[in-house]
Amino acid sequence: MATGENIEGIIDHKLFSEDDIEEMTDRLGKQLTKDYAGKFPVVIGALKGAIYFLTALTPKIDVKMQLDFLDVSSYGNGFSSSGNVKLITDITCDVKDRDVLIVEDIVDTGQTLKFMEDLMRERGAKSVKCCAMLNKTARRVDDVTVDYYGAHVQNEFVVGFGLDYLNAYRNIPYVGVLKQSVIDAHKDEE
Ligand code: 5GP
Repeated sequence: MATGENIEGIIDHKLFSEDDIEEMTDRLGKQLTKDYAGKFPVVIGALKGAIYFLTALTPKIDVKMQLDFLDVSSYGNGFSSSGNVKLITDITCDVKDRDVLIVEDIVDTGQTLKFMEDLMRERGAKSVKCCAMLNKTARRVDDVTVDYYGAHVQNEFVVGFGLDYLNAYRNIPYVGVLKQSVIDAHKDEE
């Protein structure tokens, strides 16, 4: 895509509209409000993809919470993690004896989530759960539980509402499937 073109031109079809995402966050917010009632969880956003979802979700969780962020990189190609997950930027708080809720954009193979959960458990978190916007189970290799999620997705590559392709398109306001022609055009950059 040349600079200046409409970014939504890279979308093959819309999968989840702004209204769909609002419905997801309404539902998850209600559930999390119940499940974390009386607790003071540390809600950890996985950078950068989860920012939009976390921003939409957390105002709908009516409990006192602490926010923090973790950046992990998997050094994969543009489509998935390689399994070689590394910590890029750590959280700033102590999670010992705390209830931790990891907020993810999408859980695919599960390797990124497994890495983050193991890290929190090693540090003595009392509980570790995950809330993901999307759950893509087709390629799951690690035994992780996505405790809360907005919707299932098939094995297709989605962008928007925080989800990127080669570090672009996160700011598309809905979730859509990337056009094959965009993937073909960028093959050398992966
Ligand atoms: P996992 O470790 O579960 O395989 O990968 C999780 C990460 O891979 C996500 O946080 C996201 O960055 C990336 N990912 C997996 N599937 C998709 C997808 O369909 N679209 C985008 N944009 N990223 C994805």
